[in-house]
Amino acid sequence: MKTLTELHFDNRFARLGDVFSTEVTPQPLEQPRLVVASEAAMSLLDLDPPVAEDPLFTELFSGHKLWSTAEPRAMVYSGHQFGSYNPQLGDGRGLLLGEVVNEKGQYWDLHLKGAGMTPYSRMGDGRAVLRSSIREFLASEHLHALGIPSSRALCVTSSDTTVYRERPERGAMLMRLSPSHVRFGHFEFFYYTKQHDELKQLLDHVVESHFAECLEHPEPYHSFFREVLERTAEMVARWQAYGFCHGVMNTDNMSILGITFDFGPYAFLDDFDARFICNHSDHAGRYSYENQVPIAHWNLAALAQALTPFIAIEQLRGTMDLFLPIYEAAWLDLMRKRLGLDTAEENDKELVQRLLQLMQGSAIDYTRFFRELGNSPAKQAVARLRDDFVDIKAFDDWAGSYCERVDREGEDQQARRQRMHAVNPKYILRNYLAQQAIEAAESGDYGPVRELHAVLSHPFDEQPGMDRYAERPPEWGKHLEISCSS
Ligand code: AMP
Ligand code: MG
Repeated sequence: MKTLTELHFDNRFARLGDVFSTEVTPQPLEQPRLVVASEAAMSLLDLDPPVAEDPLFTELFSGHKLWSTAEPRAMVYSGHQFGSYNPQLGDGRGLLLGEVVNEKGQYWDLHLKGAGMTPYSRMGDGRAVLRSSIREFLASEHLHALGIPSSRALCVTSSDTTVYRERPERGAMLMRLSPSHVRFGHFEFFYYTKQHDELKQLLDHVVESHFAECLEHPEPYHSFFREVLERTAEMVARWQAYGFCHGVMNTDNMSILGITFDFGPYAFLDDFDARFICNHSDHAGRYSYENQVPIAHWNLAALAQALTPFIAIEQLRGTMDLFLPIYEAAWLDLMRKRLGLDTAEENDKELVQRLLQLMQGSAIDYTRFFRELGNSPAKQAVARLRDDFVDIKAFDDWAGSYCERVDREGEDQQARRQRMHAVNPKYILRNYLAQQAIEAAESGDYGPVRELHAVLSHPFDEQPGMDRYAERPPEWGKHLEISCSS
């Protein structure tokens, strides 16, 4: 374990030089205080939980103090936003403070979001508000606990500084961790500005630092693209299987590591609805739940375009064609597990699709359905669940096929339940739960956000006394309009 001042920095990205990022000093907020910290994320930096109580923790992770070996910088990138190319983006309000190497030799970028204006702030104020910082904190740590690859969050700090959005709000900062903050949009920036030497330098940096196994391959760049595509397909498969909607899948919000990145108006499905749109400014539904799969593919094509100076187009095309099969296999594998099926049969995909079609329009709570399905033996479980379906006859047909399928698995209920509960969360981050915790935090009570974070860090476990977090959302809670401004 380390003390706060012992963090060891090795700032590889900063060393790439001024073409890739610009030195910027964090601009602290007034009277910072710790809202919530993640013990699991602290352990990635070899920090013991009590360290969070040290005032120095808050000072360091809110930009009031800086390690002498940190090198805060704003990265440049661009990207496709809602399908249109925006040639100039970049860290407008977040700073890469440096890369910390932990005792295992793993690198973790410290990225302070809300640290003030940078050369890339455009019309923005360089700030983040408490509401959106808490939302990103809760989601990143919860996704990780669900087994969905994600950037991580160390802590949120609040302040007395007022930040203006649709209303005056509290300024806050989020300390984000990720092995890399390189996005698809980084590659697009150097490709479209025709800086191909720098593009190659970026590519080499990313491959050497984060995809070293590709160097063993006769064509490392091609192998790298394939790896990014695979990871992205598997990430989206997990989003779909657990009902996570990202909301702003612009290429500047796509991590090159294939992890969930940059949280805005995201939402988990309450009632299953394939056409659900969580982003209220997404009028065309470009980033609806069901579109996340083709959009991930589209975003990979945008990345592929930026790699054309180094990888043959035929190779890129061939790899792009692997996306859907990889996605489908990963999704089906997870959905089988969610249904408690350990073996694979030919008609499994149809079985899952029939179920989702029945859920559509029946106001079936997507998370609770699977948990309840595992709670009791299959025949009893479907008998209990059937009344919620609009088309009961079609559900009975499905339930018949399902129970036969479960019988063929030949497993006792105790084992089935255990296996299903290990993949079907009891607790999911519902928007209304986040909203309640945010409202308390805005009035200075951090208890609810800390408790919610603790519950969501163990989403598969029964947690005595916490059942209210697992209930169906109230009607108002299903229709919250989450502001896009953050
Ligand atoms: P986002 O929609 O949060 O992914 O951000 C898109 C771009 O806008 C990125 O370049 C951000 O850094 C920038 N940005 C978002 N909010 C602000 C803000 N309040 N101040 C400055 N830049 C911002
Ligand atoms: Mg972004």
